[in-house]
Amino acid sequence: MIRLENLTRAPISLHLEHDVYCVQSGKCLCTRQKLPGDAGKGKVRRVPFAIHLMVGVKAGPFHDSVLECPDVAAALARGRIKANVAIPPAKKKPVQAQAPKAAQAGRVAPKPEPKK
Ligand SMILES: [Zn+2]
Repeated sequence: MIRLENLTRAPISLHLEHDVYCVQSGKCLCTRQKLPGDAGKGKVRRVPFAIHLMVGVKAGPFHDSVLECPDVAAALARGRIKANVAIPPAKKKPVQAQAPKAAQAGRVAPKPEPKK
């Protein structure tokens, strides 16, 4: 996963092309707009999702394919943005049955549970 940071002093908008980002990430972020007028009757156009990076702001995490989007690649090449690899938060370990802490620390045998 990738986080993007705006290095300029102006907001930046970056489009995530459907054929690049949505296809590779397997999740479509595009919005759909109906075309106006009779010519576009019933037709819907896909509008690519845009990242709006305010000044000094980090956005993300995005799928790795974000780096292949033309807008993002161009902004990176010009030094307008910085890409950081985002480390996903560690998954919570399943809760394991444990002996009481006092028993662990003091090596006191835990009391046996009353049998029914
Ligand atoms: Zn899409």
